[in-house]
Amino acid sequence: MKEITHWIDGAPVAGTGRTGEIFNPATGRVGGHVRMATAAEVDGAVAAAEAAYPAWRDTSLVKRAQVLFRFRDLLDRHRDELAGLISAEHGKVHSDALGEVARGLEVVEFACGIPQLLKGGFSENVSTRVDSYSIRQPLGVVAGITPFNFPAMVPMWMFPVAIACGNTFILKPSEKDPSASLLMASLWQRAGLPDGVFNVVQGDREAVDALLAHPSVRAVSFVGSTPIARYVYETGTRHGKRVQALGGAKNHMLVLPDADLDLVADAAVSAGFGSAGERCMAISVVLAVEPIGDELVDRIVSRVAALTVGPGDDPASEMGPLVTREHRDKVASYLDLGAAEGAKIVVDGRRTTVGGDGFWLGPSVLDHVPPGSRVHREEIFGPVLSVLRVASYEEGLSVINTGEYGNGTAIFTNDGGAARRFQNEVEVGMIGINVPIPVPMAFYSFGGWKSSLFGDTHVHGTEGVHFYTRGKVVTSRWLDPSHGGVNLGFPTNL
Ligand code: NAD
Repeated sequence: MKEITHWIDGAPVAGTGRTGEIFNPATGRVGGHVRMATAAEVDGAVAAAEAAYPAWRDTSLVKRAQVLFRFRDLLDRHRDELAGLISAEHGKVHSDALGEVARGLEVVEFACGIPQLLKGGFSENVSTRVDSYSIRQPLGVVAGITPFNFPAMVPMWMFPVAIACGNTFILKPSEKDPSASLLMASLWQRAGLPDGVFNVVQGDREAVDALLAHPSVRAVSFVGSTPIARYVYETGTRHGKRVQALGGAKNHMLVLPDADLDLVADAAVSAGFGSAGERCMAISVVLAVEPIGDELVDRIVSRVAALTVGPGDDPASEMGPLVTREHRDKVASYLDLGAAEGAKIVVDGRRTTVGGDGFWLGPSVLDHVPPGSRVHREEIFGPVLSVLRVASYEEGLSVINTGEYGNGTAIFTNDGGAARRFQNEVEVGMIGINVPIPVPMAFYSFGGWKSSLFGDTHVHGTEGVHFYTRGKVVTSRWLDPSHGGVNLGFPTNL
């Protein structure tokens, strides 16, 4: 049985708090235990991060970038190991786990450019012999609280940028799949990051509350479900912190009648069932603009029938189990709810049998889901794809825009004018045009609208750099002897 520790000041710390079980979702068996940090252990991590901050802040941009380049190289060489840890605790198939490592690595690569990213502006002679320039400085100790569904990628949306900007970082990963955090911590150390700059506290609400209330934690990045995102945002800001809290999602794919239905069906199946639908950018609802509904559902169903469900470490598997038994049962309950609300179950994933006690639920499709029903409105976060029939583009747009969430969405069409109209009119943060999962690249910023984001700053990209730094503007005047001044080189009063 593995025992998952904290990582504080460059070393594993066993911890004294409660323990939680870590399951292998493919077998249903407990594979290890994780310590839940107490408030005192969070204090210890913050103290280590505070002590490391002055020297790290003063480390030159070039040296910080060199550490990031080495971390990037180590991460690249440990892709497979990291993906294996993810697969064993989350359940996703190995290729999916490798995909999340690759996307996280891209943020590290983005952060390697920190000397360029932190360049300020300079205006000469804003007044006679007066110059003005801007600089950005780190905040201090910052924290990241992350969800189970991307145990490597989501933390890497945060810490490469925060650390590159000169902050020190405390990660509170999900207690469901905590092992990836420790491998990443040891890679940082091997890359030459000074002890205390990157710390990990394992745990649950107790650890989160301690971070949110700690006066030395200057900023909190959160990714998780909407109720907790709202709680973290409200509590963190009440304690005077800068907070960005990304919440849940319910992503729609609007399919216009002129779309290529084979392309749409492929996209709906990969975006609906990849990672067993446990992605915040997963497509959860297909809005079929009639008359294409029947034909599209047929094509989706024939593809779903060909999907192979199995353990994440079996190369033949295309979809793994769900993360916990409770979550599997909750997701499965939406099938009966959907039927009770008037939808038709066209593929029932409860019939999929893999064997063993894993947390299995096969891909499921609900057709004729009534707009506004619970199955349509609520985040299911599992392999249940709903199809809604709408009469027009306008009706589809209104279904999306009246929803609670605004994380991602996609339109499938061959009409450029319709696509352009959609990108302008839809109230969602990330939009795909014939792309089902439009996750922005590391050099753009990731984030939704409405109940998918509390705060106003998206993660990574230039917004990430902005979030982890504070701006200063300097106005300076230096006397020039040729203009009658004296003591060249000394500032005078403005
Ligand atoms: P979650 O909200 O249950 O947990 C997220 C984090 O909050 C974890 O670290 C957890 O330990 C902590 N936490 C849980 N309950 C808490 C409480 N009562 N008080 C304080 N902290 C608490 O989310 P999850 O189930 O791990 O992840 C799935 C959710 O994350 C989905 O809703 C999904 O849409 C969302 N998500 C969103 C994005 C995005 O970019 N918007 C990305 C990934 C996942």
